[in-house]
Amino acid sequence: MDDNSHPRIALTRASSNPPAASAFSATSFSPSVPDHPEQGTSAPEGLSTHDKPLAPGLYLVATPIGNLEDITLRALRVLRSVDRIACEDTRQTAKLLGHFGIRTPTISYHTHNENARASELIEALKSGGHIAIVSDAGMPGIADPGATIAAQAVAAGIPVYPIPGANAALSALIASGFSADRFTFHGFLPSKEGQRRTSLEFLRSHLTEPATHIFYETPHRILDALADITAIFGPSQRITLARELTKLHEEFLRGTAADVLASLRARPSIRGEMVLLIDGTPSPVASTSASTHPTLADEVASLMRSESLSEKDALKRVARSRNISKSEAYREWQRSALRKG
Ligand code: SAM
Repeated sequence: MDDNSHPRIALTRASSNPPAASAFSATSFSPSVPDHPEQGTSAPEGLSTHDKPLAPGLYLVATPIGNLEDITLRALRVLRSVDRIACEDTRQTAKLLGHFGIRTPTISYHTHNENARASELIEALKSGGHIAIVSDAGMPGIADPGATIAAQAVAAGIPVYPIPGANAALSALIASGFSADRFTFHGFLPSKEGQRRTSLEFLRSHLTEPATHIFYETPHRILDALADITAIFGPSQRITLARELTKLHEEFLRGTAADVLASLRARPSIRGEMVLLIDGTPSPVASTSASTHPTLADEVASLMRSESLSEKDALKRVARSRNISKSEAYREWQRSALRKG
């Protein structure tokens, strides 16, 4: 099998793609577009470049998720032309701007000052300002700050412009080997074990139609997440783990949940950024195996039977053991009652 071919199911440990260009190693790149390329740029029919100076408004600018070559010409032009760039981390963005020789002033805009900063920026936008929002990597607003100010700008009647580019979830999806016809992006799985299991159980019980499920995950939680997926969806559940997308050590682990888990467990350390994808076509094996895993409702029923606990006490106990709130346990319990009914 050559480097570029891989069976859809077989686990491919080595990088299944040719190595991506070095992460953050693009050589000095100066697009042949002037600061204001609006002057007379012609484009093939159906495509356009803008012929006017940058319009006032809010620009949500995607930045690379590892490989600097993934910046777009338009992103560079916008970042050069706006009055200010609001950054998740000004130091991180300074590296990107420095690389492309952009000297636009920056301002911090992160989870902790999002609300206060958004109001300030909205005032500037109301007086005709041009503001760009960037996150540390990828698309602002996707598991990153950006959505709050976009919503406020829309509510205030301020134009909001998406400047598309790299995104980890979609990059992983298109190379996963799973269907991209229907998919759901879930962001990060809950970090607490009980909440994570409850979310996965809920997802499994709603796999009525084929669709791909996409999660962001961290290296220190991936083994636990995969162990839960193996238990809840069954060891034969097909998954893809996309690591270090667009970077030097880009890697796809494609296979069953059990195989990918075993492969990661065998490594001395697990590093890098990662996207986890679950193929939402339940296999008969997965369904059989999953049905033997006790759900929250099973655990409640079992406690009521074995220890003669009331419903309320059993729910409290299960909530405690799963490290979730009583109301969350109650909601999951009601959902399973509805499913059974
Ligand atoms: N806004 C970003 C986007 O558009 O993809 C996502 C930001 S979120 C805070 C960061 C998470 O995205 C990481 O923990 C990882 O799960 C995923 N991610 C970001 N870059 C990645 C990469 N190069 N390879 C794999 N996953 C990545």
